[in-house]
Formats: sequence, structure tokens, C-alpha cells
Amino acid sequence: AKADGRSTFRFFEPGMDARLQARRALELDLRKALVNQEFELYYQPLLNVATRRVTGFEALLRWPHPERGMIPPDAFIPVAEEIGLIVPIGEWVLRQACAEAAGWPEMIKIAVNLSPVQFKNKRLVETVVEVLQETGLDPARLELEITESVLLHGSAGNVAVLQELKDLGIRISMDDFGTGYSSLSYLQKFPFDKLKIDQSFVRELSDRPEAMAIIRAVTGLGRSLQMLTTAEGVETPEQLERLSREGCTEVQGYLFSEPRPASELARLLACGTQP
Ligand code: C2E
Ligand code: CA
Ligand code: CA
Ligand code: CA
Repeated sequence: AKADGRSTFRFFEPGMDARLQARRALELDLRKALVNQEFELYYQPLLNVATRRVTGFEALLRWPHPERGMIPPDAFIPVAEEIGLIVPIGEWVLRQACAEAAGWPEMIKIAVNLSPVQFKNKRLVETVVEVLQETGLDPARLELEITESVLLHGSAGNVAVLQELKDLGIRISMDDFGTGYSSLSYLQKFPFDKLKIDQSFVRELSDRPEAMAIIRAVTGLGRSLQMLTTAEGVETPEQLERLSREGCTEVQGYLFSEPRPASELARLLACGTQP
């Protein structure tokens, strides 16, 4: 009965082992996926509210797992971040997205998500410069989306990195705006080009007057600080109508298109004109 710690632990928590094994398997699969180039990028259009024209696309990572089917990014990016694998994966995303976008019409922008973990890599700016040179993409067509966690306490180094990126002519967007702890103070730390209003506010637009008030405040803030405002997760014409009335500058969501492979670019570019 008084067995060593290990077997006691196993005896009382049989599920633990299975979870740990599943996690190890996922880590191994992720490393293999990078080597075997299993990842894909899907693209979701962003539209100008006034013109209803596509202004750019957000690149969203997809992992068609050979045995388990499509694994959503929320299910593997946190693991990739914990084991540091998000650095090479993020570099692949950036290179792939910029290479693709370099072949698109010139006014179309490409938005790429950056993990806070990528900022721990000393070579982040160098990598971005390299990718821009390799692909020939005009830096003015690249937008990097970051979350406020990049600006958390003691992040003077990250602010400097963001400024270096901005000095290259790249635009910087604040993603998931309004979901963090003290979003407003972050707006003083760095001059963002764009605020992406989190989809949770858009979802509640019709049910909660508070959501409308918050969106009104954020678009007003954007105007005063000369930042564009993009609403995410727009699914209904009613939401679009309200966002438009509040002076939101850009929209993104299933109302126009889900994220799709680059092979569907022609249809994606036209998605605002077919209601
Ligand atoms: P995000 O950056 O906030 O991306 C927006 C998410 O909302 C995407 O989910 C998109 O498919 C989804 N979405 C867009 N329109 C609608 C809509 O109308 N309704 C609903 N319900 N959802 C909508 P996805 O592609 O599953 O990505 C989830 C998250 O994974 C992203 O959230 C981002 O944080 C992360 N992610 C995706 N690709 C990358 C990447 O290349 N690098 C990093 N670091 N993170 C990524
Ligand atoms: Ca994003
Ligand atoms: Ca977002
Ligand atoms: Ca998100």
C-alpha cells in the first residue's frame, strides 16, 4: 500500500497519465507538422465600411492533422507558445503570408498575427526585414496584429521593437481590443494604427445597450487618436448597419466570408459586392 510516490500518484489519478501522454503526443505532432509543412494559411477579408470594398486579408493559421482532421488554432497555438515552437511557426506564417500577398492587387493589405512569445526572440525585427526583402512586399501593405499582453509591465523592450517595425513602414494593430485588463493605458504606450474591436462586443450589439455604448466609445477614441477601428465577428446586416452608424471604419466577419484558402482569392476579393 505504501508504494513509492509515483505509483501512488498513478493509482489515485489514472486520468493524469493519459492527459500528459496526449499533450506529449500533440507536442511531437506539432514539431513534425512544422518539418513536414502540414500548416496552411486561410485568409479572411477586411472591408471598408463606407465603400464595402475589400481592403485586405487577415492570415489565419490552419492545421489539417493527417489523422485527426482540422485542428483549430486555439487548440494548438497555446501549446506551441509554451514550448517555444511558435517562433519558427510564426516565421513560417509571416513568410507564407507575405509571399502570397506580394502577388495580390497592390492596394490589398495583409494582416499577420504575432504571438507575444515571438517578441522574446531577439531576431524578430531582422526576420521581418528579411521576409520583406525576400518577398518584395511593400512594408506599407503589411499589418502586424498584437494583443495588449505584448505591452504588459516591464515591456519597454517590446515597445522599442514595435517602434522599429513601425519605422519600417509596417502598420501595427491592437487585436481583441477591450478584452484585457487596462486597455486604455496601453494606448499611451504606443501609437497603434488600428484598434480591432473584439467580437464579443459585436455579438452583444442587439441585446445589450452597453455593447453599443462601448463600440461608440471605441470608435470615438479611434477618431480622436487617428486610429482605424475594425469590428471583428460581424455576422448580420443589422450589426453592420449599427457599426456603420457608429463610424466604425472597417468590418470583418462571416457576413462577408469565413477564412478561406488563397486559391479562392478572386471570390474573396468580390465578397463585399454580393450581399
Ligand atoms: P483572432 O486573431 O482574434 O482571429 C479572429 C478569429 O475569429 C478567427 O478564428 C476567425 O476565424 C474568427 N471569426 C472571424 N469572423 C467571425 C465571425 O463572424 N463569427 C465568428 N464566430 N468567428 C469569426 P480562428 O481562425 O479560429 O483563430 C483563432 C485565434 O487563433 C485568432 O484569433 C488568433 O488569436 C489565433 N491565431 C490564428 N492564426 C494565428 C497565427 O498565425 N499566429 C498567431 N500567433 N495566432 C494565430
Ligand atoms: Ca487577429
Ligand atoms: Ca481578434
Ligand atoms: Ca482572439
